[in-house]
Amino acid sequence: MISMAESMNGLKRTHRCTELSIANEGEQVTVMGWVQKQRNKGGIVFVDLRDRSGILQIIFEESDCGAESFAKAEKLRSEYVIAVVGCVTKRSGAVNENLKTGNIEVRATSLRILAEAQTPPFPIEADSKTKEDIRLKYRYLDLRRPDIQKNLLLRSKIATEMRSFMAKEGFVEIETPVLCKSTPEGARDYLVPSRVHPGNFYALPQSPQLFKQLLMCSGYDRYFQIARCFRDEDLRADRQPEFTQADMELSFVDVEDVLEVNERLIQHVCREAIGLEVKLPLSRIKWIDAMNRYGSDKPDTRFGMELVDVSDVVAGCGFGVFTGALENGGSVRGLNVKGQAAMPRKKIDALVDMAKGSGAKGLAYLAIEEDGTYKSSFAKFMTPEQLDALVRAMDGEKGDLLLFAADKNTIVWNVLGQLRLELGKQLNLYDPKQFNFLWVVEFPLLEWSEEENRFMAMHHPFTMPMEEDWQYIDSDPGRVRAKAYDIVLNGVELGGGSVRIHQDDIQEKMFEVLGFTKEKAWEQFGFLLSAFQYGVPPHAGLAYGLDRFVMLLVGAENIREVIAFPKVKDASDMMSEAPNVVDEKQLEELGIAIREREE
Ligand code: ASP
Repeated sequence: MISMAESMNGLKRTHRCTELSIANEGEQVTVMGWVQKQRNKGGIVFVDLRDRSGILQIIFEESDCGAESFAKAEKLRSEYVIAVVGCVTKRSGAVNENLKTGNIEVRATSLRILAEAQTPPFPIEADSKTKEDIRLKYRYLDLRRPDIQKNLLLRSKIATEMRSFMAKEGFVEIETPVLCKSTPEGARDYLVPSRVHPGNFYALPQSPQLFKQLLMCSGYDRYFQIARCFRDEDLRADRQPEFTQADMELSFVDVEDVLEVNERLIQHVCREAIGLEVKLPLSRIKWIDAMNRYGSDKPDTRFGMELVDVSDVVAGCGFGVFTGALENGGSVRGLNVKGQAAMPRKKIDALVDMAKGSGAKGLAYLAIEEDGTYKSSFAKFMTPEQLDALVRAMDGEKGDLLLFAADKNTIVWNVLGQLRLELGKQLNLYDPKQFNFLWVVEFPLLEWSEEENRFMAMHHPFTMPMEEDWQYIDSDPGRVRAKAYDIVLNGVELGGGSVRIHQDDIQEKMFEVLGFTKEKAWEQFGFLLSAFQYGVPPHAGLAYGLDRFVMLLVGAENIREVIAFPKVKDASDMMSEAPNVVDEKQLEELGIAIREREE
């Protein structure tokens, strides 16, 4: 294969392809890259040369480059790697408006073939129609495509801008371990067996949380890290088993300080990376208002269509689905889908199915016809006055479609929140190019787990409760709000964090509420609790999911489009075929035997 391959031997690249322009006219240059396309017009060979900057046209004529180079040029095929020495000239043929270098070409004086190439399994070009599994199997080729390169270059720019901003603000970049101790709260850990301590395991970090808090105890004051994190969860479209956090922690601060510096960070990164001017301060919403208005703790505020609580209006009506939900402590809420009274039955049925998929028993609807009459799935259970009152509460007008869910609050929020998003998309209710950043604040401290039959920390066990709510920790734990915050962009959670507990008594109580004995807490988090006994500053922090942030800023559809070597849904890497079996000898060293799984 590489019989003809030549080496660099004295050659030095002078420019990337698109670093050249008409300003370089007459200069002798050396460019290197991949052959995008070769066209042999008989006596003249055109080559589109590609590197990561873009494409440059090269022209070979025997009179310029000599017989040997010309013969080589005639043999060039796509993806050959070449080096060209030549002279920049104005284009002899038509100017190509689509290319940055469309008005110039390089007239080659010599050519070296640095590597030949087989025909790639798919064309190396933007907007590939190739199936994703083929792209991922040959990721090293896929990564040559300009749209992926654009994403990764922008990702690098975003990370660089974050670093430089953080450094300027006095944050110290410190690396934390990847081989850690397993802690039970949160997602499932990835485990790594220890050879030296047979039967013992490290866990890969789900986040640098405990270490960054320790760094505050050690006086580093402001910490920052772009850290790889690992969570062994079932994958969804915007999740990867390993992902990157832009992670920070600050000492001697409260909620406002963290939000303030992060708003400026967001503004800086958006401006420098994509030229987007973000207006400060960012909007804020309390968690409970986000749930009530949008049915989501990460609302997409690019459009309205907010949820309306009609529990009071339907109390005592004759519709058992509504009154039953209220009697069980739930609520009845609705969405007014403006101007959609004529939505075909099929479409409504699809919405009902979707509601069922998100946990509802059904979905009630009422369409206000153009003549003012109602067409409804539940009209026969209510008096005309009750129906009128309901329509008024929903601001219903002729032509509107009203949708209602009745159940426990959590279900009603979820169902209508999902429907709102779906309808927003279907009905083009927002501008996809708009960027709506939003802080969600005052999250509940605890969340009841049906599965575990106990309260769990909504954020993590070190999150500080709001002072004014702490009095309810015994009588009504669910009512206690936390000094926790999330940053949301267009309905996607970009990141989150909290002020941490730094007082013994609060932490102990928190463990008690979470069902940890003192011994268990010390067993798990002893190193942190011990560190806290030697002088711990008040501290707080936040972490961004960097992959998601990049995905939204570059406008990618999928998180895999902004990760160089992503994993797929079953957490495998299609290119390297990880995970995989290992040698018997490796297992033996680790003292591990594989047990057949019983079905
Ligand atoms: N470590 C937290 C997380 O991964 C973020 C934080 O509280 O700073 O969600």
